[in-house]
Amino acid sequence: MYNILIAKYGEIGVKGKNRYIFENKLIRNIRNMLKSMGKFNVYKEYGRIYIDVDDSNYKEVIDEVRKVFGVVGVCPAIKKEKDYEVLKETALKMLEEKVEEGARTFKIESKRGDKTFPMTSQEMSIDIGGYVLSNINNPEVRVDVRKPQVKITCEYRKEHILVYADSVEAYGGLPLGTNGKAMTLLSGGIDSPVASWLVAKRGVDIEAVHFHSYPFTNERSQEKVRELARILSKYCGPIKLHMVNTLDIQKAIAENCNEEETTILSRRFMMRIAEEIGKKRYCDALITGESIGQVASQTMQGIVCTNASVSMPVFRPLIAMDKVDIIKTAEEIGTYETSIIPEADCCSLFSPKKPVTKPKLERIEKSEKKLDVEGLIKSAIDNSVMETISYE
Ligand code: ATP
Ligand code: MG
Repeated sequence: MYNILIAKYGEIGVKGKNRYIFENKLIRNIRNMLKSMGKFNVYKEYGRIYIDVDDSNYKEVIDEVRKVFGVVGVCPAIKKEKDYEVLKETALKMLEEKVEEGARTFKIESKRGDKTFPMTSQEMSIDIGGYVLSNINNPEVRVDVRKPQVKITCEYRKEHILVYADSVEAYGGLPLGTNGKAMTLLSGGIDSPVASWLVAKRGVDIEAVHFHSYPFTNERSQEKVRELARILSKYCGPIKLHMVNTLDIQKAIAENCNEEETTILSRRFMMRIAEEIGKKRYCDALITGESIGQVASQTMQGIVCTNASVSMPVFRPLIAMDKVDIIKTAEEIGTYETSIIPEADCCSLFSPKKPVTKPKLERIEKSEKKLDVEGLIKSAIDNSVMETISYE
C-alpha cells in the first residue's frame, strides 16, 4: 500500500537563507543512514523530503529515518497519479486499513497544492469524507472532527496525489554536521553516552576520549566503551575514539596526594587531556555526563574544581537531569544494556573510601604542585591511540 515516506523536519524550516544548506545536509544524512539497507531515492520537493519505499521495506526504513537528527516525524504515504477519483479511492483504502487496526472515528483533512483545481480544500474534505463514510463497510465508523482516532490527509498536488495518516515520531534536533565538533569524555557508564547523544542531536559532530588503566583495568572495559561508541555512531556517524592510558597518572596521584582528593585530581587530568586532544582535533567544546549531586565528585564544589582545569567550554547536558530520566534516554537510544555491564572503570580502582565532597580549589591546586602535571599529560597523550568506530 505505502510507496513513499515523508520526512518532516521542524526547526531547520526557520533558518532563512541557510535553509537549503540544512535541508541538503539532512538529505545526505538520511541517505547515509539508509546506506546499509540499499540505495534509496531521497529527494526534496517543495520544502519537503521524500523517500521512495515499498511495502516490503517501509517499516525498517522508518525505523532508520527516525534516528536521523533533524527529522521530527516520518509519515508513510501513498503517492498516485494525479486524479481526484483516485484520491477518494485511496483515502477509502487508507481508512479501511485503519479500521482494520481498530480505529472507529476519523477526519479527512485536505490540501490543494494545485490551485487550478475547482474545489477548495474544505469542499474537498467534505466530499471525500462523505465518499469514504458511505463506502466503508463498517456501521460503527463515524466522523469526529474534534478528536478523531485517525486523521487522513489527502493532498491534491501539482504532479500527483498523496494520502497519509500517522506520523511516527522522531527525535528532532538539527542535522549532524551543522554545528561544529565537540570532544566527549566517554566512560563506560550510563551518563556520558546519553550526554554525547544529546549534544550530537543539536547537529554537533562528536569525537570521543576514553581513559583506562590497562593492565589494571582489563581489555573488556575498553571493549565496552568501543561498543558504546559503536551504538552512538549509528546516530552520529563514524566516531574517532581516543584511548588514553592514565595508569601512571593514577599512580602519581596515589603516591603523592591526599587519598580523599584522588577523584577530583584525576578528573582534572582527564579534562586537561581531553582539552589538549580536542584542540588538536579541531573541537570547540568538551562534553561530560556530569549531573549535580549525582556522586561525590559531582557536588557543586566538585564540578567547580573540575571545570577550573580547562578553558574550553564544557557542555554538561545532564546537569539538571534526574537519574531516572537519564536512564530512560539511555534505554531509548540503546546504550543502557551495554552501560550496565559491570566492568571496572579506571577511577573505580583508585577511588578513595572517603572522597572530599567540598573540595577547595586552592587546596586541589596545591596538591597538584606535587605532581609533574605537564609531563604526565604529555606522556599520556603521546601514548594514546586513536581508533575509528563505526556501526557496520
Ligand atoms: P558515567 O555514567 O558517564 O560514567 P558517572 O555518573 O559514573 O558518569 P563519573 O564517574 O563521576 O560519573 O564521571 C563524570 C563524567 O566524567 C562522566 O560522565 C564522563 O563524561 C567523564 N568520565 C568519567 N570517567 C571517565 C573515563 N574513564 N573516560 C572518559 N570519561 C570519563
Ligand atoms: Mg563513571
